[in-house]
Amino acid sequence: MDPTDILQLSLVVPVFNEAATVDLFLARISAVFANEPQIMLDIVFVNDGSTDATLALLLERQKTDPRVRIVDLSRNFGKEAALTAGLQAATGQVVVPIDVDLQDPPEVILQMVERWREGYEVVLGRRVNRDSDSWAKQVSANWFYRLHNKIAEQRLPENVGDFRLMDRCVVDALDSLPESRRFMKGLFAWVGFRTAYVDYVRPARVAGETKFNGWRLWNFALEGITSFSTEPLRIWTYLGAFVSLISFAFATFIILRAIIHGIDVPGYASLMVAVTFLGGLQLIGIGVLGEYLGRTYIESKRRPVFLVRRVYNAKD
Ligand code: UDP
Ligand code: MG
Repeated sequence: MDPTDILQLSLVVPVFNEAATVDLFLARISAVFANEPQIMLDIVFVNDGSTDATLALLLERQKTDPRVRIVDLSRNFGKEAALTAGLQAATGQVVVPIDVDLQDPPEVILQMVERWREGYEVVLGRRVNRDSDSWAKQVSANWFYRLHNKIAEQRLPENVGDFRLMDRCVVDALDSLPESRRFMKGLFAWVGFRTAYVDYVRPARVAGETKFNGWRLWNFALEGITSFSTEPLRIWTYLGAFVSLISFAFATFIILRAIIHGIDVPGYASLMVAVTFLGGLQLIGIGVLGEYLGRTYIESKRRPVFLVRRVYNAKD
């Protein structure tokens, strides 16, 4: 592409109770793109069922800022669904999902655009440190990536969130994926394409509070692993084979001992241990099976990922 051409860039911004951050976000965006005449910007806010003044505030800002578009969802569907909605609504030649709390610094987008002009179709924002995250979040994220990358077919790049630039062909590919349980990080990795990185330091949230507490993150991690790997199902075959082997050896030992020393009644302890151990093992196995069965069940309903109450374009 000729560098003097106008580039249409869509930002996709999921917002859930973010009245405290919207204005700060818009001010930063305006400052960053003020000197970029070659970039034509539009900002798709996806209101993910906010219960505060977020929607009213966005509508107010839209009156004076024609770049603002709003997709209002019928309730809170979660960030993954909101991103899906935003990607489908975005019309730009390149699309950048970005958090409204300024943890994804908008300045980085300009560097991403440069890499895109070099011919990359995906430019990932990579955090060089996670100091702004709590210690527990850093440790759990680290473990999650290690486990996930060991057992899933597609590696997730580490220290990369949803903040990235994607070419139109990548967005079209994502829009065409049919599943309704959407773990976006995994889907982003799954579609592939020529990928480059831009490093940045992730700052703390400018205002408001994080929407992801410990339990939500745990479920998010389970979602990630069960979406992209069937190893947790397969492991039971091997575990079962291993336990059978041990019990076979133990049986041989008991029979031989009975033949040599005669029948021996005590053995309550070993019996109990074997029964409870195997009972526990079987329940875990059934639990894992249930996890996947549940996913299949939900997927088989073919419900839409999100519902839109209304789309507000600047002209309406
Ligand atoms: N978000 C959303 N729906 C949700 C939770 C979060 O759209 O159910 C948005 C939120 O408004 C923000 C982004 O997702 O723009 C990231 O959320 P947050 O900053 O709370 O997550 P963290 O950075 O702590 O992981
Ligand atoms: Mg945040």
